[in-house]
Amino acid sequence: MDEGISRLIYSLPTLTKDDVDIHDFCPICFVDFKTILEDSPSDSDTSIDGSEGAASGLTKLSGCSHVFCRKEYASFSFPFL
Ligand SMILES: [Zn+2]
Repeated sequence: MDEGISRLIYSLPTLTKDDVDIHDFCPICFVDFKTILEDSPSDSDTSIDGSEGAASGLTKLSGCSHVFCRKEYASFSFPFL
C-alpha cells in the first residue's frame, strides 16, 4: 500500500458504539456496525504492533462524515485520496 494512504488510514479516528448508531451498517460491505464493533478489539490500549490491530473497527471521514469499517480502507485503493 502507498505509504501516504497508510498513514492517512491510521490517522483517522476509531469510533466506538457511542459514536455511531449500531443499527446502521457499513455502506461498503453492508455489515451492521454492531457486528463490526464486536469483531474488532474494542480496548485498543493493548499493544498495537503496527497494522492488524489498527485496521479494524469503524472510522469516519472528517470531510463528509461517512462511517464505514476501517478494513475497507486497508483493502481498497481510494483514488480520491
Ligand atoms: Zn465495511
